[in-house]
Amino acid sequence: MQVGIIGLGAMGTGMARNIAKSEHVIKVWNRTSAKAQKLAKELNIQAAPSIQQLVTNADIILICVAADNDVLEVIDAILESLKPGSIVIDTSTVSSATAKTAAKILAGRQVHFLDAPVSGGVEGAKNGTLAMMVGGNKNTLEKARPVLDTMCARILYMGGTGAGQGTKAVNQIMAAGINQAVTEALAFADAEGLPLEKVIDVVSGGAAGNWFLNHRGLTMTQHQYQPGFKLALHHKDLKICQTMAEKNSADLPLVRQTIDDYQQLMNDGFGDEDISALFRLKQT
Ligand code: NAP
Repeated sequence: MQVGIIGLGAMGTGMARNIAKSEHVIKVWNRTSAKAQKLAKELNIQAAPSIQQLVTNADIILICVAADNDVLEVIDAILESLKPGSIVIDTSTVSSATAKTAAKILAGRQVHFLDAPVSGGVEGAKNGTLAMMVGGNKNTLEKARPVLDTMCARILYMGGTGAGQGTKAVNQIMAAGINQAVTEALAFADAEGLPLEKVIDVVSGGAAGNWFLNHRGLTMTQHQYQPGFKLALHHKDLKICQTMAEKNSADLPLVRQTIDDYQQLMNDGFGDEDISALFRLKQT
């Protein structure tokens, strides 16, 4: 299958590398074209000269950009060039409402759409072990599955358009709580003068063990906050969760707290750091 990849950030680059290892023919495009040129050279693949040329002959178009408006901008730019019957798969984390808008616009051109956000971090993208939650038509997912299998350890069909993003919102709420708990607990351990490496080691093996502690525990206590997952992006995700919850008159106190904390960090110039930079606010 011919695959076009749009967006070569922390996640898209790993996805592209894994698809390039398969039998599928891939082309890449990135807004900052130097990134696409560099990756194309490394993988011995083509960097499309324009976003339109990327999609002209593509069977599957994978999008991995930042936020809702970015996804809609990309779709607007490629709409007229897409092949009828092709499949656009958005792996960015955006709202269910944006997924539904995208699906509707593309349906007008006989193009299929899947909302397919992922979890597993930059490590998951690099190692091809992402968990993907998919909304849209089940048969469309089955057509695209051979490509998605090259970058995911788990692909779950969640329901109609928007169900993938709805599920990702659940993930992001949990990630906020875990970030609050891990950063607070490790700042406490630090203040107690405990040996942090050993604390992380022993706690990881017990009931409080989790992915975030395993992958970010040590680096945060060494004050290294390279993304990872930029906290400005998680802030964007949590705002989406808040809007979705408001619809059901639900309150999400943990989300509210985390949005406020991230806002403070963003105001202080730390928006491009990993979400584990929340540790900065927990230290006394
Ligand atoms: P990133 O490193 O900031 O990369 C963002 C990418 O989107 C870049 O390639 C950027 O191009 C491109 N982009 C942004 N706005 C665009 C626009 N209007 N038109 C075209 N391209 C645009 O972000 P990331 O960490 O890869 O995250 C990408 C998506 O995956 C986000 O929705 C994020 O929430 C989600 N996600 C991230 C993680 C994680 O751990 N990082 C995990 C799961 C899901 P330039 O190079 O030109 O800036």
